[in-house]
Amino acid sequence: MNILVINCGSSSLKYQLLDMETENVLAIGLTERIGIEGSRVKHETVGKEKVVIEQPMESHKEAIQLVLDTLVNPEYGAIASLEEIDAVGHRVVHGGEKFAGSEVITEEVIAAMEECIDLAPLHNPPNIIGIRACQELMPGVPMVGVFDTAFHQTMPAYSYIYPLPYELYEELGVRKYGFHGTSHKYVSLKAAEMMNQDIKDLKIITCHLGNGASVTAIKDGKSLDTSMGLTPLEGLAMGTRSGNIDPAIVTFLMDKKNLSIDEVNHIINKESGVLGISGVSSDFRDIEEAAEAGNERAQLALDIFHYLVKKFIGSYAAAMGGVDVLVFTAGLGENSVSSREEICKGLEFMGIEIDPERNNVRGKETLISKDGAKVKTFVIPTNEELMIARDTKSLVSKNLIK
Ligand code: AMP
Repeated sequence: MNILVINCGSSSLKYQLLDMETENVLAIGLTERIGIEGSRVKHETVGKEKVVIEQPMESHKEAIQLVLDTLVNPEYGAIASLEEIDAVGHRVVHGGEKFAGSEVITEEVIAAMEECIDLAPLHNPPNIIGIRACQELMPGVPMVGVFDTAFHQTMPAYSYIYPLPYELYEELGVRKYGFHGTSHKYVSLKAAEMMNQDIKDLKIITCHLGNGASVTAIKDGKSLDTSMGLTPLEGLAMGTRSGNIDPAIVTFLMDKKNLSIDEVNHIINKESGVLGISGVSSDFRDIEEAAEAGNERAQLALDIFHYLVKKFIGSYAAAMGGVDVLVFTAGLGENSVSSREEICKGLEFMGIEIDPERNNVRGKETLISKDGAKVKTFVIPTNEELMIARDTKSLVSKNLIK
């Protein structure tokens, strides 16, 4: 069974074609600048030369058409005809309270996704546009929606209800939802597999540290708490997002600087985080480089980031009554040796002890804790696409049997 995984953003679209008998990637690509001048697709069929095709793409439908044409291209494609695509898995950012798992896409499911648009106005609309475009171009091919929020629907009310008037939850759905669920689920399952233990017997803390960053506490194989909230702004400081701040700062700034909602939103979403602190960049590589060259604000940004991750690890260990496994994933988590070292420094008292030699690793599934350390610490590269393809395969197979 071949599954096409689509992750549709506002002006870009990432895709992977996977053979689910072997779980091997057949082709991978990215279309950029949809609807903007200079649109192109970067495509690689495994075992063939990479190609970049520059072609105007006015809409997501045109982008998906180009992806499909590329996949069947005799020279650089991966399959002979579109009939070799058995199902499509779509990443959807916000499933609200409506989706606690992945779903075969029907008109009712799309209607429910549309009801979640208010909660993710930037993300859900392009996700839905991508689904519609695929339906038009691949009629009859089963499709599945996989939600970033779904894994966290197991959180108990005491972790997802904010201390606000309860009516705001009832009327507007103001609560913690959490994001990066597909990634947290994938790496926690992989850690349990690497330990040869049932995930239900483990207390796991997963740190997804990329441009967006979140930490999750996983107990009995279920998300107990996570650092992102109603939106992906809550929790850790990130590339450009502030993460947790005193909520009064928002109204204080609006008052003192006479800012509109959009302007203050822009500050906390786009100008804050490690970019805001360092004034250097939102990219951790640039910040690490600047810090090494003696830039004090870059060093401060790193110190703050590491301190925040450390505090989440401590608080989630308290929430779960201990921790057995710690996992680092995503761009920084997988690649930054020094960040992992700084985050774990001082956590020896709770059994987190990493081995400097084992930690000297980038982007590879590895145990990095010392032999005998109480907490097994891992680097596990995330693979959201594989998780989406697995869910798609499982739901589509069930539907075929029905
Ligand atoms: P992601 O959002 O998962 O793609 O992660 C992107 C972030 O990971 C960016 O801030 C990158 O700077 C960071 N990153 C990627 N590779 C490295 C590396 N070798 N060292 C430090 N940070 C890295």
